[in-house]
Amino acid sequence: MKVQSTSPIVVVANRLPFCLGTNPETGQLVRKQCAGGLVTAVAPVVVETQGLWVGWSGLHLEDNNVAIPEADPNDQTPTAGLKSNQVLPVNVPKKLFDDYYNGCCNATFWPLFHSMPDRATFQADKWDAYRQMNAEFARLTVEAVKRLSETHPGEVPLVWLHDYHMMLAANTIREKCDELNLPIKMAFFLHIPFPSWDIVRLFPWDDELLQGILGCDSIGFHIEDYCLNFIDCCQRRLGCRVDRQQMLVEHNSRTVSINPLPISIPYERFVQLAEKAPQVVKNNLHEQLLLAVDRLDYTKGLVHRIKAFETLLQKHPEQIEHVTFLQVAVPSRTDVKEYQELKEELDQIIGRINGRFSTPNWSPIRYIYGCVSQDQLAAFYRDASVAVVTPLRDGMNLVAKEFVACQTGEPGVLILSPFAGAGTSMHEALHVNPYETNEFADTIYRALTMPKDERELRMKLLRRREREYDVNFWLRSFLKTVDCLNDDNKSMAPGRLLPMREEDFSEFLGLYVTESSRLALLMDYDGTLAPIAPHPDLAQMPTETRRVLERLAHMPDVNIAIISGRSLENVKSMVGIEGITYAGNHGFEILHPDGTMFMHPIPHEYEVQLEALKQRLEEICIDGAWVESKGTGITFHYREVTGDRVADITARAQQMFKEIGITIHQSHCAYEARPPVTWNKGRASIYILRTLFGLDWCDRVSTIFAGDDKTDEDAMKALQGMAVTFRVTRSQNLRTAAMHRLPSTDAVLTMLKWIERRLGSRVPICNGQRSRTASVSSNGNRSPPRSPSTPHIRSRANSNSEPNKQMMTINDKIYHQYIAKRASPPRSSSTSPPHSPTRSTM
Ligand SMILES: [Mg+2]
Repeated sequence: MKVQSTSPIVVVANRLPFCLGTNPETGQLVRKQCAGGLVTAVAPVVVETQGLWVGWSGLHLEDNNVAIPEADPNDQTPTAGLKSNQVLPVNVPKKLFDDYYNGCCNATFWPLFHSMPDRATFQADKWDAYRQMNAEFARLTVEAVKRLSETHPGEVPLVWLHDYHMMLAANTIREKCDELNLPIKMAFFLHIPFPSWDIVRLFPWDDELLQGILGCDSIGFHIEDYCLNFIDCCQRRLGCRVDRQQMLVEHNSRTVSINPLPISIPYERFVQLAEKAPQVVKNNLHEQLLLAVDRLDYTKGLVHRIKAFETLLQKHPEQIEHVTFLQVAVPSRTDVKEYQELKEELDQIIGRINGRFSTPNWSPIRYIYGCVSQDQLAAFYRDASVAVVTPLRDGMNLVAKEFVACQTGEPGVLILSPFAGAGTSMHEALHVNPYETNEFADTIYRALTMPKDERELRMKLLRRREREYDVNFWLRSFLKTVDCLNDDNKSMAPGRLLPMREEDFSEFLGLYVTESSRLALLMDYDGTLAPIAPHPDLAQMPTETRRVLERLAHMPDVNIAIISGRSLENVKSMVGIEGITYAGNHGFEILHPDGTMFMHPIPHEYEVQLEALKQRLEEICIDGAWVESKGTGITFHYREVTGDRVADITARAQQMFKEIGITIHQSHCAYEARPPVTWNKGRASIYILRTLFGLDWCDRVSTIFAGDDKTDEDAMKALQGMAVTFRVTRSQNLRTAAMHRLPSTDAVLTMLKWIERRLGSRVPICNGQRSRTASVSSNGNRSPPRSPSTPHIRSRANSNSEPNKQMMTINDKIYHQYIAKRASPPRSSSTSPPHSPTRSTM
């Protein structure tokens, strides 16, 4: 049955569905066929929907504008209907392509994804080439989408990315199409296994890789195990919210569906081939044929298989002259040393076994190193008594399915490795672990001696399944996942994860924050508690968030600190809640609720520079740009500058920073000047925790940190392993040290509500005095009872003065009094919080 898509399809694969070659007589470019299963299934749908195909032609052309030749008029292959204007060839310098293809795809991802990490190499320059190539594939894909928007107005194209060569292209395509207002659907299918988290994490840029794949709407793997591996990686590495039942992953407010889609073969075509193919192997009534067909690759287990055959002959000498093993090995990556070595090993071992067991009229192993035609192959499959498909690891393995389809005569037996994806569905095959030579030999023996009725039954069931679940079934299943199948049965809309609920935080925090925990809640303000606004003054905290924070602040053994890039005075007035710690200027100034103040020393020279910078920047406070003075720093805001003025104003600002010698720190549409000392939100967080709870704060308190930008990463890193950290982000590709990602400030509010409910049994503070619930002294791992004698603890319960009176506004005058009072010399390169910080009680 013909498969029809409701959307025009853009296939993006490493290779075009045909190769380009040069006609030696005319010197002209010609198409050469390279029909694999994918091309056979997908090319007709691309032709049908007038879609496009992006890929490499197999040639490094010197001229980028060389015309792709049309198909030969006699071409009968599935790509014959694909016109040259439906093809977008990728053409890049040979070195870049080699680094991407051999250096990264084949040397890193191939072995790693086949769970053979000791064969994998991890090189930053090759990974960079991979990035560049994916960007190039993405550029051409956007070009393809643009073309379809003209030829198919009003239709939403389906971009289908294929395999491990294309794991980074999705986000670039999405961003660009969003910019151009071109709606698309995007899907990815991996043709090799997806390994477990244990293996994936070895790849140094695993987060980028996972997020690259997550750029699609629908992601397909051969089998459920690979899907679950991927979901596990997203949860553990990226901190994504997942639903294993429905196989959904949430990445920065998008829901991505993960689908097991076992690929298959054009079953009927193989049946026809087998029925027509002339006999190739001479039949000897007393001799059975054992068949193996592989690409010569270390994942295929060729050596293991041949050793098992040797063991069979050793254990069952009666099989000598009655069984022949035909191994077809298709040459592959012949320029790679590892593959050359494998070939040598195979040559030697086959020579040794043939030398050992051959008789004048028989040798045990026939070995074809080369390609065989489709007809020949079909004849081998048809006439073999046993097929041995025993890879050490394989995404699916189509040889097993082709063998079954071609078994049109006397039924044979399939021996299959459980480490091939096909092993999960082809239950009637004899399964054997290729690493266990002895048992492997016994299984071959069992296959050779299996009674006909058993063979018939097993083969009948195998064939029935493959006929039903052929490659068109795969294609239909895929189109259903993206709601693009043109079918009478209305396909199901893909599932969605519900918005974050309080229950989700039970998973993140349930074991860490108990009713009896002492809790330290460290939060950034802008983008975390309050949504980002066009002007900082407009970034108001929602009323509901304020109320929950207030109630939390009044709970015993809950300490809240707001750590912001704003000035202390400003953040304090924006939040306006009493009884909490405020840290301004990324933690350079800290004010505890008992009035204890800390200010990090700042070099005098910097203060002079800062003043000069401020004066210079005021010259360019035009067209909406403005300067915010924060005491220890300056922020030059250009968010409101209109489009055509941005470049000029930012260039001038950059020049001023440079001339004065102050480093620019980029933040949301703003340049910041910060003191040139090693102090940041991370160091400030640790300092706050030490001040509040003592040096062993980590044993006393459960700490949660949430923030939304780069400066918060310092805290996430500093608190790694000692706190649960959250990064609020909508970015599709972001490296974070945070344990979990939250899509919005709303999710932060949901977290605060969860915490409030969790700690709900506590008695609020009365008259500024904290009282503790009876449960506080119970033993939770993370919340040991606090020792009242610990001198460093400065909780409000120990404070003698009334918090209301302590909460004075920090104005410029008080501020400068403190700067003037600074006793300690500047610490421009300190690596730990000052031991005698500048503190006093107001
Ligand atoms: Mg922020």
